[in-house]
Amino acid sequence: MDASVKRGHDAAESGAKDRTILAVLGATPVFSEAIHVGRPNIGNRQRFLERIETMLDRRYLTNSGPFERELEQRLSGMLGVRYCVAMCNATVALEIAIRALNLTGEVIVPSFTFVATAHALQWQQITPVFCDIDPLTHNINPRKIEHLITPRTSGILAVHLWGRPCAIEELQAIADANGLALLFDAAHAFGCTYGTRKIGGFGRAEVLSFHATKFISAGEGGAVMTNDAALAERMQLMKNFGFAGYDNVISIGTNGKMNELSAAMGLTHLESLEEFARTNRTNFETYEHNLGGIRGLSLLRYDEENSPNYHYVVVEVDAREFGLTRDQLVRVLHAENVLARRYFYPGVHRMEPYRSLFPDARHALPETEAVAERVLVLPTGRGVTTVDIETICRIIRYAAENRGSVARALKETQQK
Ligand SMILES: *Cc1c(COP(=O)(O)O)cnc(C)c1O
Repeated sequence: MDASVKRGHDAAESGAKDRTILAVLGATPVFSEAIHVGRPNIGNRQRFLERIETMLDRRYLTNSGPFERELEQRLSGMLGVRYCVAMCNATVALEIAIRALNLTGEVIVPSFTFVATAHALQWQQITPVFCDIDPLTHNINPRKIEHLITPRTSGILAVHLWGRPCAIEELQAIADANGLALLFDAAHAFGCTYGTRKIGGFGRAEVLSFHATKFISAGEGGAVMTNDAALAERMQLMKNFGFAGYDNVISIGTNGKMNELSAAMGLTHLESLEEFARTNRTNFETYEHNLGGIRGLSLLRYDEENSPNYHYVVVEVDAREFGLTRDQLVRVLHAENVLARRYFYPGVHRMEPYRSLFPDARHALPETEAVAERVLVLPTGRGVTTVDIETICRIIRYAAENRGSVARALKETQQK
């Protein structure tokens, strides 16, 4: 990769609108290997391997093991939330939280989210009712909720997208006024705050993800945080088939347990949280510095007050101003082996089964549709270097400067 990065530098210094500087214009890709979004952050190997040795020595692999319990304690202590129920992943954690909250009928949820948020409802025959987002925050718009409430509505499932907190107070007021349960999908928001209060303690419960691509990972993993003792107890039962002791099943349940391997990884990665956060922040600032002044391209900002984890570098492409569409820019980047992603395109309401179930949903979701057309997520995390980021920014800048020839080249290849 060094030689190709150097080529990027040379091209930058010449400053020329050289027809050969972009792969879509015939150059060789800048990166010889793919640069992915969401490449896992890896913590201290030695610490992880020590824990694995411990796990093997004690022959305790799962079922409320010492690492799982330690992780639950660490998380509740860290977030200042009374109960933490660790699970095998956030999707199952959402399903269990939804079930333990006795949600039924309809639940109001954004469509601009990862599909699991809606699937966790539909999976148990609860209808997700899609609510539009605020185009500035990308989060569910509280002003669009009340007219979606029907006698069948039992809850609101809001998402702290990109780790930026929802309008929590407005949402809580709507939930209270209408007797609805408020649940948060906090899969992006680990380590973030809402002002001075940590994400994890809001609503009836908040769900965290420790999937490999998330800020802190356990390979696969999730957790539900709640201050409600009875709710926590129902979830502990449900995640273990309803077992209340040997041979004693007292409720319906599933297998939502977190195994010890995952818990060992989660505990290890928690120890590197500060380091991961610093890297993310430096990466973000590198993007900020190098993408400045490109017309039609805006970097989504984070509010320092909410202690962002900077895990997502999100840009919005205004096709008219930028001169290329978001999708054209994706093709430019992919040609260079930069696998930027169109999260959460095209919106959950345009994915099955929702597209078929609710063919008219998009009429109520104009901001979701517009944002889904503009958003692009760029690579960050510990797997990406500062030089990589500078190179990615240079590609974007070249694409903007050469928009005419880029558009023509893309059109030609499309016609083939
Ligand atoms: C990743 C993610 C999930 C699902 O998490 P898993 O741990 O992979 O099941 C749910 N919601 C959102 C918003 C996510 O980004």
